[in-house]
Amino acid sequence: MDESAMSHNTTHIRIGHGWDLHRLEPLPPDGAGRPLRLGGVALEHDRGPASHSDGDALLHAITDALLGAIGEPDIGQLFPDTEPSHENADSADFLAEACRRMAESGWQLSNLDATIICQQPPIAPHKGEILQQLASLLDCDEDQLNVKGKTHEHVDAVGEGRAIEVHVVVLLIRA
Ligand code: MG
Repeated sequence: MDESAMSHNTTHIRIGHGWDLHRLEPLPPDGAGRPLRLGGVALEHDRGPASHSDGDALLHAITDALLGAIGEPDIGQLFPDTEPSHENADSADFLAEACRRMAESGWQLSNLDATIICQQPPIAPHKGEILQQLASLLDCDEDQLNVKGKTHEHVDAVGEGRAIEVHVVVLLIRA
């Protein structure tokens, strides 16, 4: 292997994948849905996640992607939903712990790409605010981040508006 290829070996970059899904329920009094939040941004919708914490599926997927990239325990292991103190937890706190572990182990975010899949509400009008909030939470520039919104073509639980799903990939480089 020549020297330029060696410079791309796994000691210099790490990739991480995160995925999350939450059931979406009607808001009280008709159901147990919490107000819908994505990336720390509140979105107007008549349904919201059934969740122990605040149910922010985007922050959960990002947290798991970062933890996965550095080979740490996942979000469910670090913050079990059986733990009463995590009831109503702000998911930004979960992400902050993942960022702390990332920095402590000598890595930093190069870029992040997220795909939010839900039938409603549309994500595009909120992209700017979500990117701004993520850049603040991750202490990075917005141009390191990308968020895409997709529908599920009206099929299955996500397409019928009964769930929301998020995929995230991150690339880390040495700090
Ligand atoms: Mg979750």
